[in-house]
Amino acid sequence: MTSTAQRKEADIAVIGGGVVGAALALGLARCGAVVTVLDGGDGALCASGGNFALIWVQSKGLGMPEYALWSRRSAQDWHGLAALLQDEAGIDVAHSQPGGFTPCLSEAELEKRATAIQRLYRQPGLADFRYEVLDHAETRRRLPDISKHVVGAIYSPLDGHVNSLRLWRALRAAGARRGIDYRASHVVGSIRPRDGGFRIGFHSGFHRPGHWGEIDAGRVVLAAGLGNARLAPMVGLAAPLQPRKGQIIVTEKTAAFLHHPMASLRQTDEGGIMIGDSQEDCGFDTGVGQSVIAVMAERAVRTFARLAALHVVRSWSALRVMSPDGFPIYQQSHSHPGAFVVTCHSGVTLAANHVLTLAPAIFAGQLPESVARFSARRFDVPPHV
Ligand SMILES: Cc1cc2nc3c(=O)[nH]c(=O)nc-3n(C[C@H](O)[C@H](O)[C@H](O)COP(=O)(O)OP(=O)(O)OC[C@H]3O[C@@H](n4cnc5c(N)ncnc54)[C@H](O)[C@@H]3O)c2cc1C
Repeated sequence: MTSTAQRKEADIAVIGGGVVGAALALGLARCGAVVTVLDGGDGALCASGGNFALIWVQSKGLGMPEYALWSRRSAQDWHGLAALLQDEAGIDVAHSQPGGFTPCLSEAELEKRATAIQRLYRQPGLADFRYEVLDHAETRRRLPDISKHVVGAIYSPLDGHVNSLRLWRALRAAGARRGIDYRASHVVGSIRPRDGGFRIGFHSGFHRPGHWGEIDAGRVVLAAGLGNARLAPMVGLAAPLQPRKGQIIVTEKTAAFLHHPMASLRQTDEGGIMIGDSQEDCGFDTGVGQSVIAVMAERAVRTFARLAALHVVRSWSALRVMSPDGFPIYQQSHSHPGAFVVTCHSGVTLAANHVLTLAPAIFAGQLPESVARFSARRFDVPPHV
């Protein structure tokens, strides 16, 4: 193991270069900060490379209306983010927000979904959220290829999707143009307060993982996905995160027929059909299981019969970054001011907020009141007596 002095001053170090870290880093650099991103990369657990790419608002926020408002805000600002990325990175992220459907395959399922969304939007402050509960005929009028098994659908005009790998690349490319020092394969192992800022220790090198270094930064943003659970206590924060596996199937390309995203099915800008909304709590296992894939495929074919003729070209699983209640954790440390944790399970949906709202707030040194509910202090419940 070698020890090297690789110190470098950064205004802000962002730990983690997934879609959340890349978005924050870009937003911070746009504010004028000198930003270094230290990213595990190279095979480390990473949700950003395996997601479903929805910008999704319907169904978000039952139990925490602030999350519904936060998701809607990001969906609204996504139009600006897509234009910004085109402008600054020269990359078209295939952003499309025509509204999304949740198709239901039985009356009981439609009833359950309709009840859930009614409860969601009856919460304080959400009265102006629009959605529709559609019967089969109306669903078919809007989605002519839908099969006879679809009894109806929930529709929300806010929902959309993107090409998420291009999003990730665009965030990084725009960041590079703004001078972000992105370091792949730099795994952070320690964060210590130092001279009003932080000294961050990492090991680096794809082929020589024993190579150590440190950088000094005025502030530090923990955006390391599941890795935040280990990092947060180093700066007096908590990120009680658990992995939740999701499996995804992709078919061969086919002629465009599905112009709206669905909760579990969408046609990509390149023509393939992505299928997947599984949720499994099975630790860090990333295996693809035929039993889950078979259920997803069967549901997809019952939704659109034409899918039965398509070949599956790929399937994979990835681990969602889940807090105990499923909502984001955004917090600045009380004991270590200047250290922030940012983590969520909808990093695509919230990318616009992360670039345009959260990063400027971190740059200014204070999180906005609108995200106060996302502090991890909500998990500090007094013991039951
Ligand atoms: C199956 C699936 C479907 C999804 N679908 C959607 C969707 O449709 N819409 C949506 O909005 N979101 C979706 N998501 C969630 C979205 O992908 C995540 O919110 C997002 O990827 C989380 O991003 P992240 O950057 O926080 O974490 P990650 O993508 O996991 O990235 C974390 C990064 O931190 C690095 N890291 C970890 N520890 C350290 C360390 N100690 N030092 C340095 N670096 C470290 C890792 O190497 C990694 O690069 C989905 C996720 C999954 C798994």
